[in-house]
Amino acid sequence: MNIIFIAPPSAGKGTQSSLLEKQHGYVHISTGDLLRAEIKRKSEIGKSLEEIISRGELVSDEIITELLKNQLKKISNNKFILDGYPRTKEQAIELSKIFNELGINNYKVLYLDLDEDTALKRALGRVICSNCGATYNQYIEDLMPKEKGICDKCHEQLVSRPDDTEKAMKQRFESYVKFTKPVLKYYETEGVLSIIDASKNAKEVYEEITNIISCE
Ligand code: AMP
Repeated sequence: MNIIFIAPPSAGKGTQSSLLEKQHGYVHISTGDLLRAEIKRKSEIGKSLEEIISRGELVSDEIITELLKNQLKKISNNKFILDGYPRTKEQAIELSKIFNELGINNYKVLYLDLDEDTALKRALGRVICSNCGATYNQYIEDLMPKEKGICDKCHEQLVSRPDDTEKAMKQRFESYVKFTKPVLKYYETEGVLSIIDASKNAKEVYEEITNIISCE
């Protein structure tokens, strides 16, 4: 069973994906991570992306869809989690076409529901590893790194994301409400949508997710 996460920023998609990756053998495809990797390696695409992302705006469909398609082709038959795509109705339609092309038909859409205030608090506490991208939270006990400011996995520095500011979060949440929330209707109609209360702690949310995927 493949998983598509739909959620506002900071709802915990990354944290849940990394748990599912470790304990259930999923391949985690995060479109945000793919874009950040392009920025880090200073590719032609990367240069044009940095400002757009730090303002909290959406990147063009052409760029993101191409990156995603390449990634999906690479993982061949592995079960995967899609985190950060689709973010618009157009992307949802595009994804159905890609799935048809690649013969993918077993997936569940998990909506992690979270209010704006909680999302903002989580974003302001989030720190990610500058090397491997692992995510932590300075204010949430079960998501803190063992040593302050240092990644548990590769011992590199933890940094804040440039788009985890109050201003960018406002823009990201607005764009989520305007463009991403309508995607839920699309998947509800297809009968593949489950709703999860993401204000619960990471462990509880994880239990709920594993219950849903093991019922299928
Ligand atoms: P995320 O790591 O999912 O929070 O994504 C970080 C940023 O990458 C977003 O705020 C957008 O600027 C960009 N991004 C990620 N996924 C998409 C997408 N599917 N469509 C457009 N922009 C995206």
